[in-house]
Amino acid sequence: MAVSLLNRLRITIQRLDLTITNFFAKRYPPELCYALGGDLPPSPKPLSIKDIIGDGFLWGVPTNRRTIEKRLKRKFGNPYYVYKIMVPKTTLRVCNVCGDDHEVGVLCPTCYKKVITETTQMQDAIQNELGLSPVENEIVVLYAGEKDSQPPEYWEGKRIVEIDKPRPAWFSKNLLQQTTQQPATTTDVKPSDLG
Ligand SMILES: [Zn+2]
Repeated sequence: MAVSLLNRLRITIQRLDLTITNFFAKRYPPELCYALGGDLPPSPKPLSIKDIIGDGFLWGVPTNRRTIEKRLKRKFGNPYYVYKIMVPKTTLRVCNVCGDDHEVGVLCPTCYKKVITETTQMQDAIQNELGLSPVENEIVVLYAGEKDSQPPEYWEGKRIVEIDKPRPAWFSKNLLQQTTQQPATTTDVKPSDLG
């Protein structure tokens, strides 16, 4: 009796040692729950497919037929919600100046890049000339040769920043004036030839 108990205790300690080793090796043996319980239960006999199926087997299949409308909407989407078909874009236009494509209602990115570059140069020139201290007077940015176009009294009281290059052709002197429309040569108010 005592020998049997000692033998069982020895086996239990061996299994406990093995279980702890496996536990720290991140392996979780199924014997963990039997480690202190004595003999292992008899290993289960291998399952065959007949044991699983038995008299019948319920597969995970749809139980209701999906209508053709729902199938088509799942496949192609809905034009008012999520449309999965690639459709041609009809809102693209060609820029009249540079010829690049852009969307309707959006500035041409190529032409706008020129404006950004010019504005950055202008800001750098202002910062180099006047620094970062607050400026209360009106700042006039003049390109090369523009200072002589006005009498010296015209520039009095204004902070002048000069840029050593000619003004780009697309950059109007007066941004409030429309450059695409020629100024009127007569003072008649349209329509003038009704009588
Ligand atoms: Zn353009």
